[in-house]
Amino acid sequence: MKTVLIGVGQAGGKLTRELVAFDDRMGFGAILDAVAVNSAEADLRDIPFETILVGQDRVKGHGVGGDNELGAEVMQADKREVLSALDGRVTAEAEAIFVVAGLGGGTGSGGAPVLVKELKRIYDVPVYALGILPGDDEGAMYQVNAGRSLKTVAREADSLLLVDNDAFRSSGESLEQGFDAINEAIAQRIGLLFASGEAVEGVAESVVDSSEVINTLRSGGIAALGYAAAESAEDAEGNINAVMSTTRRALLTGTSLPEATEADAALLVVAGKPDTIPRKGVERARRWVEEETGSLQVRGGDFPLDSGRIASLILLGGVERSDRLEAFMQRAKDAVEEAEAAEEREDPASAWSNDELDDLI
Ligand code: GDP
Repeated sequence: MKTVLIGVGQAGGKLTRELVAFDDRMGFGAILDAVAVNSAEADLRDIPFETILVGQDRVKGHGVGGDNELGAEVMQADKREVLSALDGRVTAEAEAIFVVAGLGGGTGSGGAPVLVKELKRIYDVPVYALGILPGDDEGAMYQVNAGRSLKTVAREADSLLLVDNDAFRSSGESLEQGFDAINEAIAQRIGLLFASGEAVEGVAESVVDSSEVINTLRSGGIAALGYAAAESAEDAEGNINAVMSTTRRALLTGTSLPEATEADAALLVVAGKPDTIPRKGVERARRWVEEETGSLQVRGGDFPLDSGRIASLILLGGVERSDRLEAFMQRAKDAVEEAEAAEEREDPASAWSNDELDDLI
């Protein structure tokens, strides 16, 4: 799937950089172009593609400091600059646009929904968001920001692909230390998804097509991505069980949003050397995904890849009923209530509303 990426905020920029690096390293060519947008000048310094500084008149390049309302305002005020930087980058070849952002901060959290809305008005291709959820040990402000941003982005975007930072954290590691590793893991999974829809020369009829990715995400709402890999056997016969077990792991323990197993639609992509991908195993795994997700729309396909490993990648569309998401929304709501109570103690007249978080989408 030929994609143009827009990283917003610090996490958005870093993850976009990682995605571009992975796509280059693998030689996929699925990412057509990328830009990074931020209100903090320092966070744009290490970005090797076009950068746009927004909100200069308001925050002088120092960032919005976790204030996502200010993040939304500066994006609104400077949206024209961002859109003109995209001119000529979203070419006729482009099949999708992804806006990438950490939902818990300020610039990405506030700016991404504004940008998604504008892009939807301008472009015919689907506009997706790739949103990062804060870990549950991050402060209340992050939870509140993410709760609000998630709702708005999910409403505006054609689909919001969610990545929970806690899903990728290794034990004993702080979130901060783990960011680079988390970004690498996410970039590999999303990068494979982008590339899996690319035409591959001279191989099987069952390769995935970009339209299958788009159709899986068509139901809108929230999406998640699962992944697991194993050593490949020499031939397809030897990989029948491996495909079944990587598929199970991808869905049950390897998704970007843990415990998201109920879905409206799914796409199972099995990646490996073409002659080691077992037809029978893939079909069996696809049926298992159908049962497990409760969806009758489970697409399947191969991704021929010159690798000694065999991998299952599962894209899930419409996972908003997941327990994990409900738990997160509860966490965000609690944080709003706490913040409200604190504000009320200081200034009884200025309590803010919790209505926004009452129903998810
Ligand atoms: P912004 O620059 O104001 O948009 O704020 P950030 O992008 O720093 O957003 C903060 C949120 O993103 C927090 O919830 C962090 O946990 C998360 N975050 C920050 N940097 C990274 C990163 O490099 N990778 C990942 N996965 N998450 C990050």
